[in-house]
Amino acid sequence: TPDFNAFAVRADFPILQQQVNGQPLVYLDNAATTQKPEAVIQAISDYYRTDNANVHRGVHTLSDRATHRFEQARERVAGFINSRDSREVIWTRGATEAINLVAYSWARQNLRPGDRILTPWLEHHADIVPWQMAAAACDAEVVPIPVSDAGEIDLAAFEALLDERVRLVAVNQVSNALGTINPVQQMTAMAHAAGALVLVDGAQAVGHFAVDVQALGCDFYTFSGHKLFGPTGIGVLWGREALLEAMPPFLGGGEMIETVSFSGTTYNQLPFKFEAGTPHIAGAVGLAAAIDYLDGIDRVAAAAHEDRLLAMALAQADAIDGLQRVGRPAHNAGIFSFVMQGSHPSDIGMLLDQQGIAVRTGHHCTQPLMERMGVPGTVRASFSMYNTEEDVERLFAGIHKAQALFG
Ligand code: PMP
Repeated sequence: TPDFNAFAVRADFPILQQQVNGQPLVYLDNAATTQKPEAVIQAISDYYRTDNANVHRGVHTLSDRATHRFEQARERVAGFINSRDSREVIWTRGATEAINLVAYSWARQNLRPGDRILTPWLEHHADIVPWQMAAAACDAEVVPIPVSDAGEIDLAAFEALLDERVRLVAVNQVSNALGTINPVQQMTAMAHAAGALVLVDGAQAVGHFAVDVQALGCDFYTFSGHKLFGPTGIGVLWGREALLEAMPPFLGGGEMIETVSFSGTTYNQLPFKFEAGTPHIAGAVGLAAAIDYLDGIDRVAAAAHEDRLLAMALAQADAIDGLQRVGRPAHNAGIFSFVMQGSHPSDIGMLLDQQGIAVRTGHHCTQPLMERMGVPGTVRASFSMYNTEEDVERLFAGIHKAQALFG
């Protein structure tokens, strides 16, 4: 794409400038975590050097500054996902904790015996197991939504499952194992028509394209900062204000209370009701810096660049005998998942690593999906905006080498 300069973006990421095992690093494990631009590293460091204090408590200047930066970061996130109000943005440790918050607070209060939660076969364990735990506590049921051989959600089967027992649909916007971009806006409309709420797990989406929670129409949205070029340990639960207001607290402790007494404790207002304990202040500051950084990037052009790299990779993959792509979704956010005859995914991964190429191998926390696709695991190369054509060439040189060795 002529208007997108991946080399300029790449230059902003210090970690990508190194050699690994004697070769320039080719980082293709972006679905697991993205790398951090200098601006994010600097923001975290500056925060600790100049403003560090606990938030919302102190009367002193540093505490004021830390609180201001922390709350400004919340505003940044609210704007980034087009939330109506920053009170709808709850800080969590990541997507996993955000989903668990809803599973503990909303689900345990609202699920009745016989109720159902629907979640597709292609879901990450983080969007399956919390619902299984909540369902077990409430005598409810988690029912999988069928997925095609291509790795796409079967919408007709989904429609057929939407009856009065369904209270919640939990679905990822992008599959971390196959890259499938799911029609979550349409699924939300279908679920709402059947009287169910919808949680969209955006962990894999936010790093690839702009998200608008109001346009999606969903009820909850979750993501992790570290897949958005920000730090680990910080993430977001977005929820509709009326739902969050009606939900009981998740964790108890400081910050989430209004008054505490042994005769009865009252809870803080949103969003603090769900934020017990000292939060990851530097993490929020770092995530805001990542969003600021992305403001300077044409994200539509970046996504087109990723699409082009993926298309190059898939074309080369289809020309290799004995290489089998796992999933062929029509809409794919930068993921190439495959197996190769005669070689174990982890052997391929190790051989690639020896050449300085980082990919992921295994079940990618999607064991039901691996079962559905009929493979024990895959090799997964996942692209981001700072990858280049040379990265694709290096990957395939490595794959050919693996095939010569094992094939
Ligand atoms: N959902 C999806 C689709 C994911 O890819 C991941 C991370 N692999 C998660 C949830 C969990 O994110 P985290 O580990 O950052 O909480």
